[in-house]
Amino acid sequence: MTKRDYYEILGVNKDATKEEIKKAYKKLALKYHPDVSKDKDSEEKFKEISEAYAVLSDDNKRAQYDRFGNEGFDQRFSQEDIFRGFDFESILREFGFGGFGNSIFESFFGGRRTRKGRDLQYDIDIDFKDAVFGTKKKIRVYKHVNCEDCDGTGAKNKELKTCDHCEGRGQITRTQRTPFGIFSQSSICNYCHGNGKVAREKCNKCKGSGLVKSSKEITVKIPAGVKSNSYLKIKGEGEFIKDGIPGDLFVVINVKEDKIFERKDDDIYVTVYINFSQAALGDTIEIPTLHGKVKLKIPSGTQTNTVFRLKGKGVENIDGYGKGDQYVKVVVKTPTKLTKKHKELFKQLAKESKEELKVKKGFFEKVFDL
Ligand SMILES: [Zn+2]
Ligand SMILES: [Zn+2]
Repeated sequence: MTKRDYYEILGVNKDATKEEIKKAYKKLALKYHPDVSKDKDSEEKFKEISEAYAVLSDDNKRAQYDRFGNEGFDQRFSQEDIFRGFDFESILREFGFGGFGNSIFESFFGGRRTRKGRDLQYDIDIDFKDAVFGTKKKIRVYKHVNCEDCDGTGAKNKELKTCDHCEGRGQITRTQRTPFGIFSQSSICNYCHGNGKVAREKCNKCKGSGLVKSSKEITVKIPAGVKSNSYLKIKGEGEFIKDGIPGDLFVVINVKEDKIFERKDDDIYVTVYINFSQAALGDTIEIPTLHGKVKLKIPSGTQTNTVFRLKGKGVENIDGYGKGDQYVKVVVKTPTKLTKKHKELFKQLAKESKEELKVKKGFFEKVFDL
């Protein structure tokens, strides 16, 4: 199903202000809130407008949405990401609804909190150029996965029976009498983890845990432009858990250093050495870049430590923000070993340079005299 445009859902323009967006959401919330609406699709409707509002009311999420559109945004943000940091409770109270925010919020995610397996971390070293251009890496992860004998149920022959503790409801309800009235509170049954069913007999292989230790080879797609110390989240490749969903795998990337190139964000830095005559007379030299060698014109009279910029010769940004540049620092090398001929030439040069220096000195003396 293709998702509708968030602006369209709220009925506002792309350049709507925060106030206009809030006003539009309030109007629709009052219409579709499940507490007031008789419409049987109201919950679905309410979720749709709330999701649109959660994104468009947040400057950062809205910017990402404008940039990547519906599909691109969905790839980057899960439902949980969308609602993270969004204070339903207070916004609904502001609109005049009682403390129903959280129960509605929970119903958005299937009504109850699901058990989730532990997240795993895997550190990986990759070569400098692989980080620039992207690559695929195979890694082996040791973790708990579902027992194949019982399909993760923990039950011998996968035979289940109704949970005695909750009588198959998956929930335990406690009722409390207080001066303000009777309150009842439901919580998930600890024996069946909300399933309402437990093993008739324990599986022999996993002793009822539903899990076995295993190793799995996973191919990790390293995107071009990835930075050191960043991580990739691979959904569902963490530890499995009985009666729940598996955790996630976080692949932490360490980019190895390169002999020639140094990287800062998306820019590349290199240092090249030229000699006296190249600096004085100018020259065209070859510079290594990530995208092959390029010719750089050194103008005559170039001083040491002059930095040249090669536009667009840096790293392609991972989020599609264009390419970085390459900066080339030119260092003029003073010769240490001179042949007889060299010495001769330098002496001759020095003689002429001295005269130039004298002229300069004279100029400054005149300034002081005044
Ligand atoms: Zn139970
Ligand atoms: Zn088993």
